[in-house]
Amino acid sequence: MSELKTLDKTYVAGTYNRFPVEIVSGKGSEVFDDTGKRYIDMGSGIAVNSFGIADDIWKNAVIEQLDKVQHTSNLYYTAPCARLAKLLCERTGMKKVFFCNSGAEANECAIKVARKYAAEKKGAEYSTIITLQNSFHGRTLTTLAATGQEHYHELFQPLTPGFVHTPANDAEALIKLAKEQKTAAILFECVQGEGGVIALDKEFVQKIAAFAQKEDILLMVDEVQTGNGRSGALYAYMNFGIQPDVVTTAKGIGGGLPLGAALLGDKVQSVLGFGDHGSTFGGNPVACAGAVSIIERMDEEFLADVRKKSEYVFSALSGARGIKSVSGMGLMIGIETERPSAEVLKTCMENGVLCLTAKTKVRLLPALNIPMEMLAEAVDIIKRACAEQE
Ligand SMILES: *Cc1c(COP(=O)(O)O)cnc(C)c1O
Repeated sequence: MSELKTLDKTYVAGTYNRFPVEIVSGKGSEVFDDTGKRYIDMGSGIAVNSFGIADDIWKNAVIEQLDKVQHTSNLYYTAPCARLAKLLCERTGMKKVFFCNSGAEANECAIKVARKYAAEKKGAEYSTIITLQNSFHGRTLTTLAATGQEHYHELFQPLTPGFVHTPANDAEALIKLAKEQKTAAILFECVQGEGGVIALDKEFVQKIAAFAQKEDILLMVDEVQTGNGRSGALYAYMNFGIQPDVVTTAKGIGGGLPLGAALLGDKVQSVLGFGDHGSTFGGNPVACAGAVSIIERMDEEFLADVRKKSEYVFSALSGARGIKSVSGMGLMIGIETERPSAEVLKTCMENGVLCLTAKTKVRLLPALNIPMEMLAEAVDIIKRACAEQE
């Protein structure tokens, strides 16, 4: 471990403050470090390993495709990419899919779609994208500009122009801003993930959706973290009774391999033409074959099970000693603790549970198929860590 740590610190760019744990293997929601210590994984690689580690069905789909062809470029047709696009459209009512490799790239695609759509419909000056304060949309210079948190911006000026931020859950303020600006689109997360696992008010979402529809402003939902079953619906917007024009996703869709997607609705399905956008790796057959095996299994019964587990976690943690509040949706849960979250994480880790943080909260993003007994075991350890006195 210490040799690896030195190697990593010497040669890997210092962008990550890693926990002192080397993960060497796992199965489902259990992971093992280099000393053989077992942990219950309540982070699933930040909502990526939707069915946990080395899930057999996903693994077989990936291996089967690897044995055929691992990459072709987008100059040729491949079956997994087309099958995944069909599956996503059938399950969402969206019309077309652009594939890429990450959440930031999915949002970049959405922004390009919005700019082109508005330029063609209303004129090139209609380029403003409205996003929410406390949002997170990615790390590229454009998605950083979209991200409504100043501290991410400071060191990287100038960012891509054309982004304005407005408070969440204030429909009047958003509508006023949209009218002042030449607005192309509104982009938001239904549950702000990195911002502290905070769900938007349903009324706010419905109001801005109706306004956007009326004004022909695109409604774009960032489902990079909330998507692919995480919220207890296939996509979180489905819990809000709206139909977006663009849905972006990544993280959990690939079940562990890099994959992003921008789903394009009725209005914008033909905005991107030949040469308007592209990605060398986008729609990679191995990633897409794995993703088909993930999305295919997220049927109503599966999603009901996610909601049941969610209710269990909320009721077990709400009002428990040392816990001030529990927020989120589905298996995307934020815990406001009396102890500093970093200390809660440390205690959990010592006791064999891996958690995440979001702002000052403890954040839980377990694999969606975590067995109930294992979930209960982890919740118990988390509860005790929150209740501990200094
Ligand atoms: C993680 C995340 C992103 C960025 O995704 P990457 O794959 O890291 O580029 C964008 N939006 C939201 C809501 C996210 O949670």
